[in-house]
Amino acid sequence: MNCPYCGHYDSKVIDSRDVNDGIRRRRQCLKCNSRFTTYERLQPASLFVIKKDQRREEFRREKLLTGIRKACEKRPLPSGTADKLVDDIEAELYQLGKTEMPSAVIGDMVMANLKNLDHIAYLRFASVYREFADITTLKEEIDSLATTTAVHPADQLPLLPPEEMAAVKNQRRRRR
Ligand SMILES: [Zn+2]
Repeated sequence: MNCPYCGHYDSKVIDSRDVNDGIRRRRQCLKCNSRFTTYERLQPASLFVIKKDQRREEFRREKLLTGIRKACEKRPLPSGTADKLVDDIEAELYQLGKTEMPSAVIGDMVMANLKNLDHIAYLRFASVYREFADITTLKEEIDSLATTTAVHPADQLPLLPPEEMAAVKNQRRRRR
């Protein structure tokens, strides 16, 4: 790990501690003496996404990021929102410890998050992902959004806990 300030290749560890699922190391550059932090994590086993047609494809962070970035384009969201969202989803997926995950579950996780962040970004993502069959379904979705408020948390995008996500889905089912 090169120093983020001067690019020097060598640093010494001045503090090291266990955090949730890894090790946090405080380092000091041997050239400019700047301090920075590194995290060491276990590389999780590959995660496979089960597509609608049951084909399996390795989880690609970039692919998910591209879709979310597109949805968030020109929206008044803090920079790095899409990356943070993908980070959270990736962490959540690996934490579940599964080696396969249906693409629908990942899509729902993205939608649950976007819904809290920005309704336009949510609708854009949903229109690609859900393939709204017609204008009526789209209108229903917009109507349901009108009753919820989006927030723009500055530095935190919490994932909905599973029970809340289930509650949201039940609500939607009841409305139909
Ligand atoms: Zn340095």
